[in-house]
Amino acid sequence: MSKKEREIREKRYSMESNLIYGRSYTPKWDFEHHLIPPISSSATFRLDNVQRGAQGFLEFAQSNQVVDLDSKEPIYIYDRLGEPNKDMLEENLSFAERGETAVTFATGMGAISAIFGILTLTGDEIVAHTILYGCTYSLLKNWYPRYNINVNFVNMIDPEEVRKAITTRTKVVYFETPINPTLELIDIKAIVEIVREANKDRAEDEKIRVVIDNTFATPFCQRPLELGADFVIHSLTKNIGGYGTDMGGVVVGPSWSRDWLLLYRKDFGAALGPKSAWNILVYGLPTLSLRMRRQQETAKVIAEFLCQHEDVNYVNYPGAKCFTQTEIAEKQMYDYDNNPAPGSMIYFGIRGDTPEERRERGERFINHLATNAYTITLAVSLGNIRTLIEHPGSMTHSAIPAEEQVKEGMDPGGIRLSVGLEKPEDIISDLEAAFETIQVAV
Ligand SMILES: *Cc1c(COP(=O)(O)O)cnc(C)c1O
Repeated sequence: MSKKEREIREKRYSMESNLIYGRSYTPKWDFEHHLIPPISSSATFRLDNVQRGAQGFLEFAQSNQVVDLDSKEPIYIYDRLGEPNKDMLEENLSFAERGETAVTFATGMGAISAIFGILTLTGDEIVAHTILYGCTYSLLKNWYPRYNINVNFVNMIDPEEVRKAITTRTKVVYFETPINPTLELIDIKAIVEIVREANKDRAEDEKIRVVIDNTFATPFCQRPLELGADFVIHSLTKNIGGYGTDMGGVVVGPSWSRDWLLLYRKDFGAALGPKSAWNILVYGLPTLSLRMRRQQETAKVIAEFLCQHEDVNYVNYPGAKCFTQTEIAEKQMYDYDNNPAPGSMIYFGIRGDTPEERRERGERFINHLATNAYTITLAVSLGNIRTLIEHPGSMTHSAIPAEEQVKEGMDPGGIRLSVGLEKPEDIISDLEAAFETIQVAV
């Protein structure tokens, strides 16, 4: 099948069906005879003769040396440079995000380090939202200043803050939406517009790039590249992998970035293992739509239950009637068929008169669930077929005192819930029991 025929076929069917079959043609494997792509497991590859070896090195990360990347059989050299399972997963991930190319990494943090690594030099600046996934925050706060790359943390819920923070040295504008852990939303198009204006008089290699961590939404619910962002990153460990068996990460972006990302991965070394790539390729992506649809339906029911609950202050869920940012959700969170797609993550606040009381009640609520609930598990991570819960105020962000958390825009009583595949009634019944315990003791 030619590339052209493949494209015609892919256009004829929905993305959901396309993701089940995977890209219908790849030069990386013979799909005419394999229903499932084989697990390849080879740290190194036979090169036949030195000429072929030399050709392989010449072509690696030199896409300008290869006339037709999409139909030419690659020369594989060594796993860290590339091998069939990762390459096939990359084709499918860029397809799912509607990007030009994708490069995978060993973890989400591997992908995040790589995108900053290729876009910044000493002396450059990054503008990032104040609240980020904990390790991303630590990378930008603790490591980048050591390389004299300064990070300006601003509240992007007001996009004008980005305009004010951009300087001639800014190279990257970085954020998550929905934000971890608060589930607040940042208006992608508004930020893209501001960056576009700032880029007007900049040369191509001086342009500011908008990079979005799309882990919470998944490409099923939101495709930032279609909204004008330059790069999307994912932790594949979460909903794309889906079962919590493997770690992984990916950067999806324009074709020019592929060589840079491959070189970065080659030298910094965070290559995704082929067996993990295979799991995500064979189990994760083909079931993404199915899982997201079911998890999202359940999340909507749970969010409405929480909106009504007297011990709950507020519910941040892009699809909840009581959520304050539904307008932004409607603008940017929709599935492949343009239906509203609020996702499977919920953040809600436990009521309490003081920050300390909210933290304390949150802690009791969670500890009750941890010992008694069957359908809710206390664990970090998210995007799993099991419902997972965590209390950032006393866990991931426990180093920050309750009062300080409030100053930083965090609620010490905030609870993050990642909805899985269990029956909604069971999850709600476990939640109800936990709410009862915090009432009795008050
Ligand atoms: C988990 C996560 C990451 C990091 O991914 P790892 O695979 O754990 O390295 C980054 N961003 C968000 C939003 C995440 O949830």
